[in-house]
Amino acid sequence: MRVQVAIIGSGPSGLLLGQLLGNAGIETVILDRSSKAHILSRVRAGVLEEGTVGLMEKAGVGRRMRAEGLPHDGFSLAFDGRDHRIDLFDLTGGKRVMVYGQTELTRDLIEQREADSRLTIYEAANVTPHDFDGAAPFVTYEKDGLTHRIDCDFIAGCDGFHGASRKAVPETAIRTFEKVYPFGWLGILAEVPPVSEELIYANHPRGFALCSMRSQTRSRYYIQAALDEKIEAWSDTRFWDELRRRLPAHHAEAMVTGPSFEKSIAPLRSFVAEPMRFGRLFLVGDAAHIVPPTGAKGLNLAASDVHYLFSGLMEHYQDRSNAGIDAYSARALARVWKAVRFSWWMTTMLHRFPEASDFDQKIQEAELDYLTHSCAAETVLAENYVGLPY
Ligand SMILES: Cc1cc2nc3c(=O)[nH]c(=O)nc-3n(C[C@H](O)[C@H](O)[C@H](O)COP(=O)(O)OP(=O)(O)OC[C@H]3O[C@@H](n4cnc5c(N)ncnc54)[C@H](O)[C@@H]3O)c2cc1C
Repeated sequence: MRVQVAIIGSGPSGLLLGQLLGNAGIETVILDRSSKAHILSRVRAGVLEEGTVGLMEKAGVGRRMRAEGLPHDGFSLAFDGRDHRIDLFDLTGGKRVMVYGQTELTRDLIEQREADSRLTIYEAANVTPHDFDGAAPFVTYEKDGLTHRIDCDFIAGCDGFHGASRKAVPETAIRTFEKVYPFGWLGILAEVPPVSEELIYANHPRGFALCSMRSQTRSRYYIQAALDEKIEAWSDTRFWDELRRRLPAHHAEAMVTGPSFEKSIAPLRSFVAEPMRFGRLFLVGDAAHIVPPTGAKGLNLAASDVHYLFSGLMEHYQDRSNAGIDAYSARALARVWKAVRFSWWMTTMLHRFPEASDFDQKIQEAELDYLTHSCAAETVLAENYVGLPY
């Protein structure tokens, strides 16, 4: 088989890139090691920047997101028993974010790809990029006991942090930067109305908490947890009690609780691989970088990478210029590092570190107090949260 762009990974980055390229008449195939059912059942991000919303619309898959997504003009920072609203809309001159689950976004993209009869090969084992340093790269994979080969012009490595694309690059050609945080997030999904119409990010001496949502009837709540916590040790009752302890009293009292239907612990990490292009192989999204979810940036960075790569590939195919693909890595990384910094800062300001003293807690509260009384500081937070321009 031959296509113009072989895409490894059917997550948000691979699907969005495939949709944009397909609409422009570029032939793609998407290869994923997982089943479609597994991909559709993954619960992950939920806050979309305007740039991501715009890309979904550009890809022709924004209809359900516009109808069912929840536009948010602000969020709250809770600390020291009180909370303060960050007015994103006012502070950024009219920008907002959209709450729409990654699961829904993925479903929209997969359904459109199927409606357009574009090929995705699920449960493809040992997917491997080859010869991307030369002019004729190809990808091999195994399925049903046979090895298959796909020749292509370019390979997009959209296969997440544990994927095969980054691993195919010689160690001497890549540099990685990493920070692993000494805690994780214990998250639940429950069919209960959210405690607040907007997200609440809470700093508390017992640890961070986040009140988020997927819809007006479905809540997504997180609490900071030790890395060695066992999920079985967290009954729903224990989770709700701990969450309420970390929130200002008026939110704790207003919270509606109920049985959770998803519960998981995710570790927190910052990671960047440089560069993001190796000849005819491009790393996109989590394959190249990971951020802790505190700034809601992971999925949005995957989308901005897609924007840069799509523009570069269009210049290649339509204008016969390689300027865009030559600039891909530098353009993407400039935005990535700013989001890595923002996510690290939010994480540092809002979480309780294991070695933290009462002094450290007071410093965090002073920073939050300053932040919520300075228009300049609030504006910095708001413009980063809604997403820096592409
Ligand atoms: C548990 C969890 C919770 C998260 N929560 C948030 C959040 O609250 N907010 C936020 O902003 N971000 C969050 N993120 C991050 C966000 O989900 C990612 O940034 C986003 O999914 C990146 O999209 P992607 O397409 O680059 O990678 P992925 O979504 O990881 O997709 C990669 C795809 O490649 C496939 N694949 C992997 N290896 C191979 C291989 N060897 N061969 C073929 N296919 C392969 C996978 O099956 C997958 O379908 C979370 C991530 C995780 C893991």
